[in-house]
Amino acid sequence: MIYERADFAREVGASISCAANGTRWLEEWGVNIELGDPVILKQLISRDWKTGEPASVYDLHNYKGKWGCNYYMFHRAVGQRGQGTPAKLKVNHKAKDVNLDTGEITFEDGTTAKHDVIIGADGIGSTIRNVLGIKVEKVPASWSCLHTNVDTEEAVKLGLVDYSKNSAIEYWGGYENPAHYKIVLSPCNGGKLLSYYCFFSREAGDFQNQSWDEAATLPELLAPYPDLDRQVFKHLEIGYEIRPWRLWKHDPYPYWQKGLACVIGDAAHPAIEDAGALGTIFSKKNFNGDIREALEVYEEVRKPRGTKVQAASSRASENIHERMGFSSNKDNPLSLRINEEKRLTIDEMNTYDMHADVAAKLAARRGKN
Ligand SMILES: Cc1cc2nc3c(=O)[nH]c(=O)nc-3n(C[C@H](O)[C@H](O)[C@H](O)COP(=O)(O)OP(=O)(O)OC[C@H]3O[C@@H](n4cnc5c(N)ncnc54)[C@H](O)[C@@H]3O)c2cc1C
Repeated sequence: MIYERADFAREVGASISCAANGTRWLEEWGVNIELGDPVILKQLISRDWKTGEPASVYDLHNYKGKWGCNYYMFHRAVGQRGQGTPAKLKVNHKAKDVNLDTGEITFEDGTTAKHDVIIGADGIGSTIRNVLGIKVEKVPASWSCLHTNVDTEEAVKLGLVDYSKNSAIEYWGGYENPAHYKIVLSPCNGGKLLSYYCFFSREAGDFQNQSWDEAATLPELLAPYPDLDRQVFKHLEIGYEIRPWRLWKHDPYPYWQKGLACVIGDAAHPAIEDAGALGTIFSKKNFNGDIREALEVYEEVRKPRGTKVQAASSRASENIHERMGFSSNKDNPLSLRINEEKRLTIDEMNTYDMHADVAAKLAARRGKN
């Protein structure tokens, strides 16, 4: 059973990237990947802020050959097929409290429901995380982000560059002076839609108090970029649905589960692998009825890896060359400056075998008992 506080299941943003470590789970769960109208990524291109000339290109043409699954850029969409009983979605159910010993949830309207396990997938402002007693130290990032969509057809009609042809995530700036200025372009909808994430310092425009539903204007989007490569700037000039994406920096949480409840996704940290871990641990093969053991193994498997990814993403926001593709690119002179020990590589992300990890952790525990 899924309880949702809103009166509908909605999408935020247009594109969503999914590397091999996420695609692996979509394939295992039988998700209809085609429904997401994906672009299969072939390159990561980092461009000079002013000229747009490529500063570093990471070739992903052999990505599937190397890591077994595609690197997709999806449009956010909801699929319906899959094995087993479909989950029921109950809207207008805002969870207010959970009894961690009995599994009883109390909703805002006073009604209750009782379940064996409670999985808090309730986002960055998670109520369940609060119920678990986790104190959040989060501070707003010192930069802003506006997201906008551009239709490829419209851009081509105006004689602008057809970025969809590169099948690439492309970056302008994002390192050195000033690192907080960066444009990230993700093609989606089979290349028909270009999804732009536009970052700038908060002094150049502060949207920290504006939610995703409060649209920003075109002049607000363009103002921070007087010296940006004109080719991409002209794309932004035809941008629509300009919305602020509020960004926060927060420290890793001390634990992710307690009693009969745990947190996943943005409530814990961002990752599709959390859902993969819970599915594996609670599978017929691995679950023996001991909910406490299952939740402890979930934390043991996911927390160290999730925390390392979180730290790498935080560094990448200060320097785009800390991003996995660029830091793994041995031909990129800028990646050589990156701390070897902390570096998160594509290999490390994509060769990890969670099934084996879960099996080993369970065997170690059960051997001990
Ligand atoms: C513009 C944008 C672009 C992004 N691009 C990417 C990307 O390319 N790749 C990527 O991996 N991630 C991306 N992200 C991040 C990604 O969207 C999040 O990591 C992901 O949505 C987190 O999913 P979630 O289910 O954990 O939380 P959410 O998507 O926040 O969902 C939480 C749900 O819980 C509901 N809820 C909250 N509180 C309660 C309550 N008390 N009771 C009941 N229901 C409640 C909310 O209404 C919501 O529906 C992007 C985010 C944005 C905004």
